[in-house]
Amino acid sequence: MSKDANTQRMEKIVSLCKRRGFIFQSSEIYGGLNGFWDYGPLGVELKRNLKDFWWRRNVRERDDMVGMDGSIIMNRAVWKASGHEETFSDPMVDCRNCKGRHREDQLPEKDGAKYCPNCGSRDLTPPRAFNLMFKSYAGPVESEDNLVYLRPETAQAMFVQFKNILDTSRKKLPFGIAQIGKAFRNEINPRNYTFRSREFEQMEIEYFCHAKDGLRLTDYWLEERLKFYEDIGIPRSKIRVHDIPAEERAFYSKKTYDLEYEFPFGLSELEGIAYRTDYDLSKHIEHSGKPLEYFDDVTRERFVPHVVEPSAGVDRTALALICEAFDEETVTDEEGKSEVRTVLRFHPRMAPVKCGVFPLLKNKPELVAKAKEIVALLRPHMAVAYDEAAAIGKRYRRQDEIGTPFCVTVDFDTIGENGPEKKDTVTLRERDSMQQVRIPVADLKNWLLEKIS
Ligand SMILES: [Zn+2]
Repeated sequence: MSKDANTQRMEKIVSLCKRRGFIFQSSEIYGGLNGFWDYGPLGVELKRNLKDFWWRRNVRERDDMVGMDGSIIMNRAVWKASGHEETFSDPMVDCRNCKGRHREDQLPEKDGAKYCPNCGSRDLTPPRAFNLMFKSYAGPVESEDNLVYLRPETAQAMFVQFKNILDTSRKKLPFGIAQIGKAFRNEINPRNYTFRSREFEQMEIEYFCHAKDGLRLTDYWLEERLKFYEDIGIPRSKIRVHDIPAEERAFYSKKTYDLEYEFPFGLSELEGIAYRTDYDLSKHIEHSGKPLEYFDDVTRERFVPHVVEPSAGVDRTALALICEAFDEETVTDEEGKSEVRTVLRFHPRMAPVKCGVFPLLKNKPELVAKAKEIVALLRPHMAVAYDEAAAIGKRYRRQDEIGTPFCVTVDFDTIGENGPEKKDTVTLRERDSMQQVRIPVADLKNWLLEKIS
């Protein structure tokens, strides 16, 4: 796709997200706040489906994984030990002409010289390190002693609680800890919609193992994670696995894969899978003075476990799901009239609303009552939308646009007006094919559950 087509596609996606209630600018009525976003009624359902499925796959369905939920603010000593206080920074330059601030590594370049993307000036300050951690103070006194940071990643909580979790869960290596939670980075230039935000959510795994298994398990997790993306509707063909060469990896990492998705704004990282050796636990042993070793009671060996870290972004994946699902197609009705159908082709598992339920006519009490009965039947099990306004075709289009995979219509057959054979059956219409089938109301719940679980 050409650059223009991609820009246009992204604009349509952003506009749809706002129009239908997926994503809003944070604090919009006050002019917004750069790098912060709110998820509306549909966005929050999409994100919840994604996080729930990740949790199910990586925690509930496995014997070798447990979960945790750490605090966002931790003892500052954690960030000294991890190296974040010292080195978690981006090179920042100021434009002396327009006073704009930019990340040096993102500056455009012409004839070998970098220039300001705002005003084109080449009068830039030398780069200086800007720490990306948000600062605050715990307690009423704003002193150096009370300085705290909003966590820039969820990972550290899993390292510092390693021993508690090992002792209480009685797991043997290899085993992992999983966590989903907010993280914060004071990005110099937030950009690409929700992709690079200052507040975001992560889904991280720390998978602890013996050193001899580290490389093998890194490849194992790469495969697991690619399967996961496939199972939520992002095919392998759309993900580029970037095997990071040694000179670009962190010095302690023996292997790192970046999983990049082809967003309309370019290939961008969805997830990193890093074999971090024993770096993190060793640092915390050094700084806390506490023993975080593992004792293998079969081999009688005592050692610091190595770790493989699959780290994914919730917001990035949600955005990838929307970008992957977005489609426009020209459809022609029976009278030969063409129109553009906007449809989000979400995997039914991820779709914010699973089923639309419509009475054919809103002024026919028996139809409305039956439709509401079906809504009540489905609601304990899935998100359902009831809609009685406008013609059926229009109601289908409204659901297509938010990615609802199935719609059922209650008509005169359902209430037995055309004979007993079709009584208590409904029309079930599938989003992608637009095909309709007749299905007994009694089978509806299980039929849908099979498709969405
Ligand atoms: Zn400038």
